[in-house]
Amino acid sequence: MRVTWAPGASLSFRLDPEDEITGRASDEYPIKLAINSCSVGGVPDDAHPDLFAVAAWTVVAPWTRKRITFDRAVSAEVARALHDGWGVEAGPVGAEPRTPGSRLAISYSGGADSVAAATIFPDAPFVHFRRVAHPRVPNRWPHYRSDVLAKLAAQTGRELSVVTSDLEYTLAEPRPGYPEHHAVAAGALLLADRLDLGGLGFGYEMGSRWLGGGRYLWRFTPDNPMWSPHGRWGRLFAAAGVHIVLPVGGVSEAVTMRVALGSPLRDQVRWCLRGTDGPCRTCAKCLYKELIQAAVERRPLDTPITADRPQARKYLQKPPYGGQEMIQYGLARVPGIEDTLFAPVLDHFDVSEAATSWLERCYPPALDEIPQPWRAEAAAFVEANVGLMTESEVAKVESWGNA
Ligand SMILES: [Zn+2]
Repeated sequence: MRVTWAPGASLSFRLDPEDEITGRASDEYPIKLAINSCSVGGVPDDAHPDLFAVAAWTVVAPWTRKRITFDRAVSAEVARALHDGWGVEAGPVGAEPRTPGSRLAISYSGGADSVAAATIFPDAPFVHFRRVAHPRVPNRWPHYRSDVLAKLAAQTGRELSVVTSDLEYTLAEPRPGYPEHHAVAAGALLLADRLDLGGLGFGYEMGSRWLGGGRYLWRFTPDNPMWSPHGRWGRLFAAAGVHIVLPVGGVSEAVTMRVALGSPLRDQVRWCLRGTDGPCRTCAKCLYKELIQAAVERRPLDTPITADRPQARKYLQKPPYGGQEMIQYGLARVPGIEDTLFAPVLDHFDVSEAATSWLERCYPPALDEIPQPWRAEAAAFVEANVGLMTESEVAKVESWGNA
């Protein structure tokens, strides 16, 4: 793989003979290349070469097999992290390593998880990734209202940098999206010198970090290659002086929902990617989040979606489900759930409150892995507003998927 950054943070890349058109992301998900160019707007042209290298790697990693040649020398540290993490020879090598900055920024989407992360660090600036059209790739998924989400981010009143990018269109299948999840940070990386960043906070919660949630395996994943600070991505970001920080990595989506809806940013919370004046209420994500919100607020489910709709169909089947621990949590707490589209799922789980109470507290090792400059502030918030798991609750996390 050969990558070139032109002025205006315009990235182009060329595959070597051994590279693949259909690659695999860090979670083994197969993804197909659509086009070998993209750009990132709202960032400077003079960032440290390691930042350009890591930003490029978040885009091209799935399609790279053996080597990557950058257009400017990188540090030996970044080259080593690429070699140790991916078995890739990276060069040329020759830059001095970047000295980490002192600040933490939040990679802010506006969803409940990132709002919760933002609430823990009330003085942290936001970097918001806004998808824009690619000049040469048609938009096959026009429902995504990135303009609405950017407007909400602006209304938070926080120090905000909006990064615009078409990098998701490098991906043809399954549909436009981040080649690696870390590509959401491409703009924040390129802003790291200007914002004096030493850390970047993401809203990945316990399911994503520890329970193999999202697209991954359904098991306890202390070695999660995506988000463990000791994993390959964690080491690569650290080599560029921008530590991955997961302020809500030890708590469930019930906790992030409760924290977000109780925060000063409550009016700007938006997990739906489609709605304009409010959440659309009809997408699969709105249904899932409504279950969690109803559970947190201890009220009946309020959704126009009926059991015959495609968004609800998966609940007629057996587990596993995406966000399974939260489905279980919702079933245990929403009054009248047996009269809703979730009724068939009741057969599959222990839906007592006792069986799901671990989802209301923090898994302590998640605090231990927050880098030292930000650990105390996160721990103080969690101890005051959430509380730590007991030993038996910790065991629930660590036996997840084996029960
Ligand atoms: Zn929706």
